[in-house]
Amino acid sequence: MDQPVTPPRERLRAAYLRDESEALADLIGEARLAPESSRRVQDRARTLVEKVRTSQQAVAGMQSFLREYDLSSQEGVLLMCVAEALLRIPDAATADKLIRDKLSQGDWERHVGRNNSLLVNAGTWGMMLTGKLVSLDAASAGNAGAWFGRLAARAGEPVVRVALRQGMKLMAEQFVMGRTIGDALERSRSAEHAAYRHSYDMLGEAAFTAADAERYFAAYESAIDSIAAHRVEGASNVFQRPGISIKLSALHPRYEYAQRERVMAELVPRVQSLAERARRGEVGVTLDAEEADRLELSLDIFERVFASAALQGWEGLGLAVQAYQKRAPFVIEWLAEVARRQRRRIMVRLVKGAYWDSEVKRAQMQGLAGYPVYTRKANTDVSYLACARRMIEAPDAFYGQFATHNAQTVATIIERMPAGQPFEFQRLHGMGDDLYDEVTRMGHACRVYAPVGSHEDLLPYLVRRLLENGANTSFVNRIADSSIPVESVIADPVAAAQANASAANPRIPLPRDLYGERANSAGFVFADEAAAAPVMARIASFASRPLERIADATPAQAQRALEVASGAEIPPAAERAAILERAADLIEANVAQFMALLAREAGKTLPDGLGEVREAADFCRYYAMLARRHFAQPEELTGPTGESNRLMLAGRGPFVCISPWNFPLAIFVGQVTAAFAAGNPVVAKPAEQTPLIASRAVEVLLEAGVPRAALSLVPGPGETVGAALVSSLRTAGVAFTGSTGTARAINRALAARDGPIVPFIAETGGLNAMLVDSSALPEQVVADVIASAFNSAGQRCSALRILCLQEEIAPRVIEILAGATAELRLGDPARLDTDVGPVIDADALRMLEEHAAKMDREAKLICKAKLPADLKGGLFFAPRAYEIASLDAIDHEVFGPILHVVRFAAADLEKVVDAVNAKGYGLTMGVHSRIEDTVELVRARACAGNLYVNRNMIGATVGVQPFGGEGLSGTGPKAGGPHYLFRFANERTFTVNTAAAGGNASLIASSE
Ligand SMILES: Cc1cc2nc3c(=O)[nH]c(=O)nc-3n(C[C@H](O)[C@H](O)[C@H](O)COP(=O)(O)OP(=O)(O)OC[C@H]3O[C@@H](n4cnc5c(N)ncnc54)[C@H](O)[C@@H]3O)c2cc1C
Repeated sequence: MDQPVTPPRERLRAAYLRDESEALADLIGEARLAPESSRRVQDRARTLVEKVRTSQQAVAGMQSFLREYDLSSQEGVLLMCVAEALLRIPDAATADKLIRDKLSQGDWERHVGRNNSLLVNAGTWGMMLTGKLVSLDAASAGNAGAWFGRLAARAGEPVVRVALRQGMKLMAEQFVMGRTIGDALERSRSAEHAAYRHSYDMLGEAAFTAADAERYFAAYESAIDSIAAHRVEGASNVFQRPGISIKLSALHPRYEYAQRERVMAELVPRVQSLAERARRGEVGVTLDAEEADRLELSLDIFERVFASAALQGWEGLGLAVQAYQKRAPFVIEWLAEVARRQRRRIMVRLVKGAYWDSEVKRAQMQGLAGYPVYTRKANTDVSYLACARRMIEAPDAFYGQFATHNAQTVATIIERMPAGQPFEFQRLHGMGDDLYDEVTRMGHACRVYAPVGSHEDLLPYLVRRLLENGANTSFVNRIADSSIPVESVIADPVAAAQANASAANPRIPLPRDLYGERANSAGFVFADEAAAAPVMARIASFASRPLERIADATPAQAQRALEVASGAEIPPAAERAAILERAADLIEANVAQFMALLAREAGKTLPDGLGEVREAADFCRYYAMLARRHFAQPEELTGPTGESNRLMLAGRGPFVCISPWNFPLAIFVGQVTAAFAAGNPVVAKPAEQTPLIASRAVEVLLEAGVPRAALSLVPGPGETVGAALVSSLRTAGVAFTGSTGTARAINRALAARDGPIVPFIAETGGLNAMLVDSSALPEQVVADVIASAFNSAGQRCSALRILCLQEEIAPRVIEILAGATAELRLGDPARLDTDVGPVIDADALRMLEEHAAKMDREAKLICKAKLPADLKGGLFFAPRAYEIASLDAIDHEVFGPILHVVRFAAADLEKVVDAVNAKGYGLTMGVHSRIEDTVELVRARACAGNLYVNRNMIGATVGVQPFGGEGLSGTGPKAGGPHYLFRFANERTFTVNTAAAGGNASLIASSE
């Protein structure tokens, strides 16, 4: 049973995206020290930094290497790219390509000889890269590019590859304690570790499949047993003994808010079982902190396990809290309540947080009202100090574990800590060694977070550490850089935060303000219950109302609508823009109703529905911006004196907008608002399947101020109503999105008309492919494939249809793809835990079943999602993937969740691109590769309107990824792009001979 939501939990919830200045104002007082304490902290921090700097000069090792190649240098980024990918690439050809790709860029020479470090100087580069096989002569040291060429020529690429792999392993080993838990435990006995406690982390990232989750579970179990058996002298309680860190995302393939019920039912018992095992062996367990949208879920799991009868009285279960999150102080407050309720302490590892850059990016993409994390480093530090104080002042609730490598933070904790109160510091293996050698000498306990695993498993971890070390705001980077004055390194964050003119970082605009001239559409995350709950409640209330019926129009009514449109008064551009901006606001205000309608009428899941509402609002604001920019004022053209020349854009007349059922709101609104923004009256014919959404959209547009005569809705069949509209001589243009076949029919109908030849803007289907080489990360590929192929039940024109896998990487990708597809949940689209809703109608279902039957005969089924028994007989079609022998097996778009997978040899990449092009479509394409040359090759060769690299290939954002294809996929211009409106307009020039009446007065006036 869930625990009640107490006031601290409510406060926590309300603070998800808290205003930064408010949050900071609350914390400053708590973080600030009395002047005398503050002085002591500065002295202590200064001493620490000076000692570290002296000792670091003596051992010029990895720290200086990382500093030399910090992430503000191109070479640092390139090196990180090599580190991230090289070790996992199975085939030599691709590995060599990656090396050539990265080492041929960048100014490696400038690093040569700049540093005394053994690792940084060129000789050691040679040694590191080639394992003593090749050493650099003095002449080569000045020219790394040439040196590399010679090296490759002399030693051969295989040697360079082996050497570089060796180098990367060296770098990786810096951050890994051992390949197996046995190795790691053994190493913990070495002299360098004698002063430390340890928490072992079984490397591995999120599980994508049930099998992965089981493998991680078993790894945790056996690690706990090994740690339990490990004797540590003088360690008498769980705080002193070695422990283990657990990543919840590794233990469940769907550890996400939307799957909360399932996660609670399945993951809680797993964590419980590990915790009980750990208790038996007196091994402390800490749950790692992950992404912001998983915070509350992790708290629920923690609370459930912590409160379980089997763990009563045991203080060995803890969790990490990220101070960079605005909710952090409330998490501490809530945890104190949980601890007191259970009458025992919680081990809390206070960290600053490891996912800052991705949290900021995600919030921007999701259009959130704010950021879940602070946007200034000093604010994160202040939050850390305030949270630490709360923990220190609640010794009955917490055993404090302060994880930081920052000397100022360390010095403050020492200052605040009452004598005799048990606590410990924590650091990551490979980081902060010098600092903590000092701190432990001062008598303070410190635990090392000790990653355990093979090289392949550590890559994502390694990248996080490289990002952390390479950031120029990072303490570990600054402490090692002797050009930064000590006083600046140990600056008091409270003073720094207060000195800032604004609490929030002005260089990181709020997600809403991302686009400057126009507002970003408002979004929310479902995990943010304070924001999501009211919307969800409204969706539920709409779900129970009966659906209105919209009657079809007749061809005569369609004609009448065009007649009315012809007489419509169109307001000037500035007014049209204002109307469209009001429409955007109204669409957002009606988000719940639209999401409910999209689920009921179009089978859209809630996240898809939200995305569509946001896209509709973005269209309104984007076209409003373009209308103001291009239609409000004539453009002055340069010409001879005595003459004025202006170019003006004007509407053409009634535009017919024919939209599809798969984006019944966004595309409908996009077409209509573009035509109106350009000064045209509109007659809109929605898809037969989705008239209700269209009708509601029209109401909103009219409410926003679109004149009634300027917008008519004529629902009905394409063959009658659509045909009547297209063939009318009143129609001054047609915007259409739908199948290539219908586009051809419209084109012919327009051509058959007498009268003016009018613009026809068509967006049609695609046979979209994704190309994956062996430098790609299989887990990331699968996440993007599942989203691209199966979201919206594959019923997007941008959806992935053909996945082309380089043969060396294919087995692993296919294995994960199968496991991840098995985790998809089909069902009622209005339920948050549904991944895939129904297909649009019986015709669509029949077509998919027929194609699947053909594939069953001709191809190999790779995987198929489960179709629950109660959905059989409905409009559900289980997503699936087939392996086909070659691209010849498919030649047309199959609109639904059927993915075709084909393997290719690395040397045939160009041929694959050509074969995809040869299908004649040109809508979207995806590439997953870490090799820029490969990406560039595809970019230069591919005929695709939208090419996506290392991400999914759906969900184009208005104004960011203008959408539309070429060839069989459409006429252009791109919807949501800067050129779209022009196609809806007439261009007129206006020339006045200003010298006609009495000569050229202005020329004469300006003559000398
Ligand atoms: C034992 C241990 C366990 C850990 N476990 C976890 C864990 O479970 N989950 C997790 O997320 N991390 C974890 N970490 C990683 C930890 O978050 C980082 O090591 C830590 O943030 C580094 O902090 P610092 O005090 O050493 O460095 P500092 O350099 O003083 O601080 C770096 C912090 O500032 C943040 N920051 C940088 N720029 C900005 C900005 N403009 N605005 C706001 N904040 C900014 C960074 O994101 C980072 O959090 C763990 C670390 C240790 C030592």
